[in-house]
Amino acid sequence: MKTSEEYFSTTYEESRQNFRSHLDKIITMWPEAELTSEAIGQEPDNTIDMIHAQARTDPEQVIVMTTGEHGIEGYGGAAVLDLFVHEYLEKIDPKTTGICLIHALNPWGMRNHRRVTENNIDLNRNYFYEDNAIPEDINKNYEKEKGLFLPDGKIEDLENQRKELHGQLLNALAEEGYSRVKEAKGMGQYEFERGVYYGGQAEEETTKFLKRVHRNMLHGYPRVIHMDWHTALGPTNEVTMLVSEKISDDEEQLKKDYQLDNVGIISSDNVKGDSKTYVNKLREEEYPDTYLFSGLFEFGTFGDDKKAEFREFMTIILENQLYWEGAEKEEDRQWILDEFREMFYPDEAEWRESVIKEARRAIEGVLKQEGVLHIRAGR
Ligand SMILES: [Zn+2]
Repeated sequence: MKTSEEYFSTTYEESRQNFRSHLDKIITMWPEAELTSEAIGQEPDNTIDMIHAQARTDPEQVIVMTTGEHGIEGYGGAAVLDLFVHEYLEKIDPKTTGICLIHALNPWGMRNHRRVTENNIDLNRNYFYEDNAIPEDINKNYEKEKGLFLPDGKIEDLENQRKELHGQLLNALAEEGYSRVKEAKGMGQYEFERGVYYGGQAEEETTKFLKRVHRNMLHGYPRVIHMDWHTALGPTNEVTMLVSEKISDDEEQLKKDYQLDNVGIISSDNVKGDSKTYVNKLREEEYPDTYLFSGLFEFGTFGDDKKAEFREFMTIILENQLYWEGAEKEEDRQWILDEFREMFYPDEAEWRESVIKEARRAIEGVLKQEGVLHIRAGR
């Protein structure tokens, strides 16, 4: 068996190479399986890689796994794809079940260890069902917290900068509780192209790509089971599942059904442009007879208390400022990059072990509940 550490890559290219090599194994069960690489963005050689294997005789369902919607989070996601290929393929019936595995929805971000795309876009704020539905109205809460969320000059001295940010955040939080700042985050913004949580002015290439995949899957199978892998949110070293309110709004029932400790509901009142709300809407409007389970899975790093949330805001804001404006001192630059990495792709063996362990739990919870795993006789 592989050690936990062996699932994790250091660079985008190494991770992609490893992903592409999964085809050899997949082809032994689905001889028609295909690997495709779609070039994305302005820079050369950033690709979304997809292995799609149709159910061999009578398609009942497809398992879709997506990774790297948030660039750097793709390292954790790629580890899960690797785990899935190594430990679960053989428990799936290729006659009735198709698989569609996607490596790096945001390859530029994964390569450059950023969360957003090369256009500074948070892809999970870029999905709208109606054409030209990208919001023109200003996010009022964001507007009020502009000073916090928009980069404002070079980082001269990190310690001072952090004190200042800390004060600003405290003020924002004290004034109207957490709600205003959290709403600014969840609803994103569509106006300031150098600000954090930017949803863009137009659909990203990746968004078009994934929308096509979602349509093909909902069209081609009576049942679609989708797991989308992310990192950072939720309790440290644990997996958290988030589903659209359209799937269920009963957290306790979801915990029971999927055998998970941490479950959250994505409500369209709190987020705009997220890909889970989109795919559920697509199903409802155009494929009402298709069954869909679509879950977003997070491997927690900083934690889920107020202190951790504070640290997350600071990290996202400082990394964005560093990217656009730079830092005077090399040590400051390094500190911010290290902190960003701690949030989305920690080096710690303990975290990496937890990703593998918790991913097994989530995969088994979902595939069992959805009736995909073979339960062998005499188990
Ligand atoms: Zn994410």
